[in-house]
Amino acid sequence: MGGVKTVEQCMICPHGCVFTEKHPIGKCHVRGLNNPGYGMCTGLSVDPIEKKPIRNFRSGTTVLSTGPNGCNLTCLNCQNWHISQQRSASVQYLSPENLATIAMQKSDGLAFTYTEPTIWYEYIMDTAPLVREQSGIVIMVSNGYVNRKPLQDLISVTDAWNIDLKAWSNDFYRNICGGDLVTVKNSIRMVADSKCHLELTWLLIPGYNDDPDQITNAAKWIKSTAGENTAVHVSRYFPQYKMTVPATPLPVLDKAVELFRKHLRYVYPGNV
Ligand code: SF4
Repeated sequence: MGGVKTVEQCMICPHGCVFTEKHPIGKCHVRGLNNPGYGMCTGLSVDPIEKKPIRNFRSGTTVLSTGPNGCNLTCLNCQNWHISQQRSASVQYLSPENLATIAMQKSDGLAFTYTEPTIWYEYIMDTAPLVREQSGIVIMVSNGYVNRKPLQDLISVTDAWNIDLKAWSNDFYRNICGGDLVTVKNSIRMVADSKCHLELTWLLIPGYNDDPDQITNAAKWIKSTAGENTAVHVSRYFPQYKMTVPATPLPVLDKAVELFRKHLRYVYPGNV
């Protein structure tokens, strides 16, 4: 007679990983049986909110930034691959009370960032209210690859989001990132419809997401879904991780900014 087998399914993102005793960790390497990534923090640094980037909300404030050691996407060009795709990053456990206290001692709030914070669902649900009780702000910098229910819960305890819109192409999401565009669009729509402040980031990779039609269609959708005042950060790409395409030439960046500006009022070049 065997013992009772433990099996759980994760409902945080569309991957829907099933955890078993034989395979106890999910694709993101953060969630699994007994939630092993809970409170395991990589990095801890105080940054201006503009560095997240959030430009049009609580300008001039600072936030303590941290994130989990893993991600539910596998972008070939990940700029933080050493903590999103590798398990060797240095991590430390901080209880929700500890993290909230450090954030409010050192800054005006907390940013969950660097990798993908929504996979830290329980930790954020426990920590964010402690920051807000002390009048701190809570920022999420996310890839938007998250299911509706956990996203709704996270929206209820946070103040501002920057969501990556990586391309206007499901092929790009599938082949380069291991995700899908539909889920990300849904997340953007949900945050736009909420009380949270929303900004977006488009990392411009030459030959992959700089097509003028793609950018124009994305800009029109952002305007109709989230409004023309939604800030978009068009960030310059540099070769990272498994992608070797040369860095975005500045004229290509300028052209993309110009295209977004035809439909949106706040378009900021980044990484320049
Ligand atoms: S959050 Fe992680 S464990 Fe959960 S479904 Fe997504 S990849 Fe799998």
